[in-house]
Amino acid sequence: ETAAGPAIVAVGNIVLTTEDLVPPASPPRFLVFWKFMTPDYVSAIGSKFVVKNLAFVPQDKAAPGDVLVTSAAGETLGAMQWQDRRPGDLALTNVLPKAYLMLMLLIGVMAAIAVLSWRQYRLISEREARAQRDAREDALTRLPNRNALMESLTALLLQPEPVAVTFVDLDGFKDVNDTYDHETGDRLIMAVAAGLTVLTPEAHLISRIGGGEVVIVHAGQGAEESAKATAARIISFLGDPVEIGGRMAQVGASIGIAVAAGNAATASEVMRRADVAMYAAKSAGKNRFCLFDAAMDNSRDETAEIASELQRILAEGRLEIAYQPIIDATTMQVAAVEALARWPQSSQLKIGPDRFIPVAETAGLIDRLGEAILEKACRDAAQWPGIRVSVNVSPLQLRHPHFAQRTLAIIDRCGIARNRIEIEVTEGTMIDNIRRLQPLFETLRKAGVSVALDDFGSGYSSIAYLRELHFDRIKIDRSLTKSILSSEVARNMIQATGLIAAGIKAQVTAEGVESGDEVALLRLAGCSEYQGYFFGRPQPASAITESLAAKPAAAA
Ligand code: C2E
Ligand code: MG
Ligand code: MG
Repeated sequence: ETAAGPAIVAVGNIVLTTEDLVPPASPPRFLVFWKFMTPDYVSAIGSKFVVKNLAFVPQDKAAPGDVLVTSAAGETLGAMQWQDRRPGDLALTNVLPKAYLMLMLLIGVMAAIAVLSWRQYRLISEREARAQRDAREDALTRLPNRNALMESLTALLLQPEPVAVTFVDLDGFKDVNDTYDHETGDRLIMAVAAGLTVLTPEAHLISRIGGGEVVIVHAGQGAEESAKATAARIISFLGDPVEIGGRMAQVGASIGIAVAAGNAATASEVMRRADVAMYAAKSAGKNRFCLFDAAMDNSRDETAEIASELQRILAEGRLEIAYQPIIDATTMQVAAVEALARWPQSSQLKIGPDRFIPVAETAGLIDRLGEAILEKACRDAAQWPGIRVSVNVSPLQLRHPHFAQRTLAIIDRCGIARNRIEIEVTEGTMIDNIRRLQPLFETLRKAGVSVALDDFGSGYSSIAYLRELHFDRIKIDRSLTKSILSSEVARNMIQATGLIAAGIKAQVTAEGVESGDEVALLRLAGCSEYQGYFFGRPQPASAITESLAAKPAAAA
């Protein structure tokens, strides 16, 4: 025990190890070593001899089993203490890092597998969810689709409360798709879908079931009123052009509403009625809504009746024509007549061309109707020398591969000069295919038949049609003429039409002229011909013959 704590001391007598030398005669010398038993030193010994936690502790801390350290005098100084080694400890110490590494690897692999299978699971469940969504959702707008609609409608119709189905058909949608591109069409549909969702907070369901078709369902008391209010809101909402990607697009809507209550009709029957009502709204002039009533079903039956009767009429050659005089602006004399198809007076049905022409088109009778009118008009024209005869031609007729040949053949057969015949085509025709129409129109014009653009200003007019197709005449639509007195815009447009016509060397005829005041303004705009009730209504051939024989009248 020293002042600095216990120390180990070793003392050795220094002696010569060979006998060859003689030790000096001096007092003996000693070599003394000591080491203080500091904790560091003791633990260094421990690690050197692989004794765990070796330490030197004071005597009072000594435990049984410790090795007591005594001084040379036999006095206890303290004790050496260490942790007992268990069998296998050493092996464990050596193996542990490797085992640890293995364990880490194993955990890593397990984790990787877990992550991968979780991903796989997520993918599969996402795919499944998507498939389920796709079966019930419209991919573009994420609105419920027809499946979801029919399911929910079926459930609603089992309840006693009324259900109102509102069928919305976007009128200009197809045009936007054709005029711009599908992406713009898609954006439009999304914009409209978003708008409809906002406009119909009380709706039970909004569903997109086709291109431009959206169905809104109202359920419960007041469903019909909500449906009507919604329809009115939609029409006024769509009245404004929508901006999509920097372009303005205008769509309107034809809306049909059908109401059913308490198991009185199946889901598909209610849908059919809403569809029929929608068609009624469309044929009534679009941008409106109609409530289904049973008479509409009759009108469907009537369509079939018209088609079969038209077939008989054509077979018997009984279709009639009314001729409307067209007045030359300079001479104020009758310069031409327009042949307008008329349903025979003798028939039970009283219908106009606006009804039976579309039926003829859908029933595949339009070619026969067109040829019947042309032939009759050519024969009648023989009585009116020097008068041009205008005949309307449906876009579908222009698709007939032999339209030009057959038209010329009919004219020639009747023995009338080709240059006395003009065909009138509407703008809607042009959207079809300018490239196909170009050679057709050229053939006709070279043969002497002139071509007029009918109803100009009533649809989607394009300068391209006028530039690429050669027209001899532009006929200003009645709707524009009607506004000439009240609207400066209409006046400007008619004026501009006159300039465009001059640019393409075409004449301008104003349709639907009903007053002398209109004539004065149309004259200023440079119209070369007038047609309308002011000068004469469509009338039988005999009446035209009479008025031409009498002194040709300038007005009424
Ligand atoms: P459209 O070719 O534009 O014929 C002019 C229409 O305007 C005629 O109606 C005529 O009666 C009407 N109209 C003429 N002047 C006035 C007026 O001053 N005021 C008013 N309010 N109306 C006037 P309509 O005869 O009912 O014929 C309607 C449409 O049916 C025609 O329009 C034409 O597109 C079509 N159509 C008539 N006949 C034929 C035909 O033989 N073949 C084809 N494909 N279409 C025809
Ligand atoms: Mg016409
Ligand atoms: Mg017209």
